[in-house]
Amino acid sequence: MATERKGQSAAPGLALAPLEELLPTLSPGSPAQETKADPDAERSRLEQAIRAAIGGLNALVAQADSEAGEILAFQVAMLEDPNLAEPAWQAIATGSPAGSAWTLATAPLIADFEGSGDALFASRASDLCDLRDRVLAELNGTPAGPLKQQPGATVLLADDLSPSQFLSWTWHPGSAIALRRGSAASHLALLARSRGIPMVVGLGPLDAAGHQLALVDGDSGRVVLSPDPVEQARMAHAPKGPASLSAGDPYVMGPARTGDGVAINLQLNINGVEELAGLNPGCCDGIGLVRSEFLFSQGLPREDQQFQAYRRILEWANGRSVTIRTLDAGGDKPIPGLSLPEEANPFLGCRGLRFSLAHPALFEVQLRALARAACEGDLRILLPMVTLPAELDAASALLDKAVADLRSEGLPASRPPLGVMVEVPAVAIKPELFSSAAFFSIGSNDLTQYVMAAARDNTSVSSLHDCAHPAVTVLIEQVVQAGASLGIPVSLCGDMAGDPNHLAALLNAGLRRLSVAPAWLGTTKRHLAQLSCGRS
Ligand code: PEP
Ligand code: MG
Repeated sequence: MATERKGQSAAPGLALAPLEELLPTLSPGSPAQETKADPDAERSRLEQAIRAAIGGLNALVAQADSEAGEILAFQVAMLEDPNLAEPAWQAIATGSPAGSAWTLATAPLIADFEGSGDALFASRASDLCDLRDRVLAELNGTPAGPLKQQPGATVLLADDLSPSQFLSWTWHPGSAIALRRGSAASHLALLARSRGIPMVVGLGPLDAAGHQLALVDGDSGRVVLSPDPVEQARMAHAPKGPASLSAGDPYVMGPARTGDGVAINLQLNINGVEELAGLNPGCCDGIGLVRSEFLFSQGLPREDQQFQAYRRILEWANGRSVTIRTLDAGGDKPIPGLSLPEEANPFLGCRGLRFSLAHPALFEVQLRALARAACEGDLRILLPMVTLPAELDAASALLDKAVADLRSEGLPASRPPLGVMVEVPAVAIKPELFSSAAFFSIGSNDLTQYVMAAARDNTSVSSLHDCAHPAVTVLIEQVVQAGASLGIPVSLCGDMAGDPNHLAALLNAGLRRLSVAPAWLGTTKRHLAQLSCGRS
């Protein structure tokens, strides 16, 4: 009999494939049976196990692409941090065996990450559990090797999955991931999205016994074990996986146009340059959103590093417009190396442009890099979490200064158009206050969470985080109308545009400029072709 669960979408796409359950090899964090031993011997066993675990991760880094390599390098750096093992050395000195000491050392850290109340930090707990278990496996003499799997596409069901486990699995086309726990903000979700593997997280208890086949709907967050024949037949006609990644999908390179012939300006949202690898820029009208946080994942990037990264994206776009958002730190996006303030409610705190304006030295580096890159193509700057016109004015003045400084230093610089993300209700309700903005880009993810008072990363209120609620769509409509009367172009770059169920509402609201994740491009074009703008 079919068993259906609703979780949270972490990577889009559909899959129907044989079910494979990944059982934990160790009960989490359990040290092997150990007897009390000599502290010197235990210390050297643990040192060796940590070194071997680092070696295992480095071997994976060597085979990984740059995105996966960065994630694994982050894990290696954590494992190399002497502070991590410090409590273990102390426990060993007082007679603990190596395994118990290591479990003891990592437990409070894992608990801190899990209980941080912050989705991104909580998602890093699984990276730490992976490190803990890798070292324990080395101590137990059972080092982590490649995962055993059946040939062909699979729906992999697990409690959680680490990035290194993901990378040791062969993802045949048509595969998907279903997790009882997990997080849409995890490194794993990032990898699944960029590889085009549908993924649903937060399913809760789900017994796989007796089920051979599973359906994963990564768009709606639904998983069905043993789907009935009607559901299977429906799936047979639905596009599996993210269409843009399936070779030969005629829609990916086709025009973005409604059934009644209205051209839609369809751009891409990216989290890093790597996502453009293998993509033909002719598939889109440009990049509607570059989340520049990707540059900050390993600490603060220098001006030149940022300049080179922006330039590479502009080069790829080959004359098409590229909208780069300034750092959107805070909320669900903590930045390693940046001390964000401790806040009871970070989503309502010092995030996005508020943070950049509070750290002008940091902001200046980004604005200088952007102004330099603007000489290389059609670059626009997008400001996140704008609330007041004074914030736009302040950012604008800093951009003017960055351009003037660069020119006085003899460096080529150009002043890009400065746009405002519409994601705070105060802006969506009164867009006319921002008449100096060069463009508006609606961030439906945050706009929905603020209008509906439902956190975007909290599975238990995901039904309230409904971007199709009339309270949200009326604001979108209002912004489009205000843009038309002010002569300010309006686009939408939130995930709402990538959900075919919402495309009609966006067209009805008057939007003609949308941007979606690369994985959603083909599906979006296919659905647009089935819709009409009601042109008379
Ligand atoms: C949004 O809020 O809709 C958006 C596009 O930005 P992010 O998801 O990065 O917050
Ligand atoms: Mg946002």
